Amino acid sequence: MLNEKIAVITGASRGIGAAIAKKMAENGATVIINYQGSVQAAQALEAEIREKGGKAVTYKCDVSDFDKCEKFIGDVVKEYGRIDILVNNAGITRDGLLMGMKEEDFDSVIKTNLKGAFNCLKAVTPIMLKQKYGKIVNMASVVGVVGNPGQVNYCASKAGLIGMTKSLAKEIGSRNITVNAIAPGFIDTDMTKILSDDQKKKILSQIPLNKFGNVEDIANVALFLGSENSNYITGQVIHVDGGMAM
Ligand code: NAP
Repeated sequence: MLNEKIAVITGASRGIGAAIAKKMAENGATVIINYQGSVQAAQALEAEIREKGGKAVTYKCDVSDFDKCEKFIGDVVKEYGRIDILVNNAGITRDGLLMGMKEEDFDSVIKTNLKGAFNCLKAVTPIMLKQKYGKIVNMASVVGVVGNPGQVNYCASKAGLIGMTKSLAKEIGSRNITVNAIAPGFIDTDMTKILSDDQKKKILSQIPLNKFGNVEDIANVALFLGSENSNYITGQVIHVDGGMAM
């Protein structure tokens, strides 16, 4: 499905990003596993993909740093000549009610989740424009659409990402580049492990399918949006949330 395609996946050392990397590699893509701190996890993922006959390489880069992203993407293009798929997946949370939220908690979440996507898009978009081909997938969240108490910073970053997705889709659609977002609901990863049982129970009561999602649920949709099966879809937010938002 993705034979000969070069896919850059940010925040791919763990969780959803790692599942997307595996899925895209299984489907023939060469995957660039971006990470920031989890070097061992990233290298283990690279080894796992290669053992199964897939193509993968790790690349350390803090996506919140504009210059580092430029170098990261420049290095990938030098090595592989093109970038077909960009998944802006790297993300963090720094939860707390607004009254107690520190300025740095707001800034760091916006800088990683929203500005990080901007940094990668700035570097990758000129390459895709030249190729007249590209598939961009931004990892938003259900709470970027419906809001969530205790996540003013995170929801703002994800709502921003949705606005960015739609605007860029309109800017570059005529050059055969699609730009879509995925809005996951509650997915079982390190990010959600920190929630208390009470919080999890409350969330579960809002999910019509009555279960939490897993990383495969998101990877399947990322594969679709990264493939030519989604050629006539752009500017969309695909909800993968068991029906939480409808
Ligand atoms: P996770 O398990 O906490 O993994 C986060 C990933 O992002 C890690 O690979 C981490 O790399 C990377 N990362 C963080 N800061 C980075 C930076 N500055 N530069 C590069 N990489 C960075 O999270 P997840 O649950 O898989 O979430 C993945 C995405 O889905 C996030 O954007 C998240 O907001 C979104 N999402 C998740 C859920 C959910 O329920 N889990 C729901 C909605 C949306 P290192 O470990 O190497 O630092």
